[in-house]
Amino acid sequence: MPLLEVQQVDVFYGDFRAIAGVSLSLQAGEVLALIGANGAGKTTLLRTVTGLLKPRSGRICFEGADVTALPAEELARRGVAMVPEGRMLFPSLTVEENLQMGTLTRRKGAWTLDTVYDIFPVLKDLRQRNAMQLSGGQQQMVAIGRALLSNPRLLICDELSLGLAPLVVEEIYRTFERIRGADLSIVLVEQDVARACAVSDRVSCLLKGQVTLQGASRAMELSQVTAAYFGE
Ligand code: ATP
Repeated sequence: MPLLEVQQVDVFYGDFRAIAGVSLSLQAGEVLALIGANGAGKTTLLRTVTGLLKPRSGRICFEGADVTALPAEELARRGVAMVPEGRMLFPSLTVEENLQMGTLTRRKGAWTLDTVYDIFPVLKDLRQRNAMQLSGGQQQMVAIGRALLSNPRLLICDELSLGLAPLVVEEIYRTFERIRGADLSIVLVEQDVARACAVSDRVSCLLKGQVTLQGASRAMELSQVTAAYFGE
């Protein structure tokens, strides 16, 4: 049974269909990268999977249960955690206080402050600092650590690399190799096609709200992905 199944989903903003008949599935332990040009619908799809937006038609199943109608808080309780675009840290709180926000919808599991500091040692040294005093990369680590502290089964990451130096992005993606596992699957949006293929098991390409290409990352030819990306 797949961990996540999106079946023929349509999402509208008013009369505008931002997601049109999208289907995808994710097995436990897999990393799926969503790629696509600006406005393709990637963020809309992520927000739909987390329950923040509701599809007009289609179905979303998580751990075999139909969760289409459930509110975002309930999905969070069931183990869907989002690292939002722009990181959305609490500016007046310290690093550690921001991390602890992740425990509000906590499931049973192995993630604790200590295991997060183990993955991102720099955060331990900075734990009493105000979150806004950190570099962009460090703030991104806090956003990921906060999500992990809820002990998610599905970690959803929107454009982690936005505005970060390539080396920092690499460092963050390297940690994904350590955090993924039978109990943690990842869906990520990544603008850099080569990087998206490198860090994932499978790739889905969106164009104008539709999936134009889907398959194993290893088997993807860059020319094929580029064609799907631009709709050629
Ligand atoms: P980006 O890489 O720019 O974040 P994206 O692939 O994530 O793009 P979305 O942000 O999901 O794309 O947007 C998909 C489409 O829906 C775009 O045409 C966008 O203009 C439109 N859209 C997004 N949010 C809204 C909204 N709140 N109201 C109306 N239209 C919206």
